[in-house]
Amino acid sequence: MSHWRSLAEEMVREQIEGRGVRGAVLEAMASVPRHLFVSENLAENAWIDSPLPIGEDQTISQPYMVGRMTELLAPSPGERVLEVGTGSGYQAAVLCAMGVKVVTMERIKKLALESRERLARLGYDAEVLWTDGSAEDRPEGPFDGVIVTAAAPELERWWTDVLAKGGRLVAPVSVMSGGQRLLLRKKLGNGRIKDTWHEYCRFVPLLKGKKGDEPLRPNNEPTNGPNRE
Ligand code: SAH
Repeated sequence: MSHWRSLAEEMVREQIEGRGVRGAVLEAMASVPRHLFVSENLAENAWIDSPLPIGEDQTISQPYMVGRMTELLAPSPGERVLEVGTGSGYQAAVLCAMGVKVVTMERIKKLALESRERLARLGYDAEVLWTDGSAEDRPEGPFDGVIVTAAAPELERWWTDVLAKGGRLVAPVSVMSGGQRLLLRKKLGNGRIKDTWHEYCRFVPLLKGKKGDEPLRPNNEPTNGPNRE
């Protein structure tokens, strides 16, 4: 797909900038080959205004959501950001393209390994961890930003604890009225927390536990046995 750069620019202009997103994220999103973050048969659709399936019942987020969440996160070059929910690795790539140091956590082994390989191949220097990002075995902080790309019923406490002073957390959170809403949490210079609520959204759920390398089920051949990794 040699003409992808013009498709990327059009996507940014119409879907991201056209809906009011501003700042360095626009240039970053125009530079990332989104069609290489989906399977080949979906590459043609990579630029449409929608999330797309990436296998394992998961999705690559809608471009606008990536743009808006990144705008709220407002990372500066050289800052450290932790992502929970690597998925395809696209959000991580956008952050890398902004000069951010990214650590990203994915609970599904297959997606973690694929994204790690993909990001490295495309030259994005992100650290991909196969781990449950809702659990306590967290990478060492502090982080200037935490971005959660799966919907949680509530925020894990350590996501706030791991934030540096001046740090920002962006997450879709399930709300009482039904649906989910983007939360921006800032840890102020004095350590106090300031929350603001933004638009409604729709993300796949944050789930507990790692997936992959399950023990053999009776009468069932493994499709992805440990020896193949
Ligand atoms: N940021 C991704 C889209 C995320 S889809 C992208 O740019 O493509 C949400 C991802 O969160 C899925 O891959 C899902 O497996 C993962 N996820 C869900 N619960 C998780 C958890 N507890 N820890 C880590 N990853 C989780």
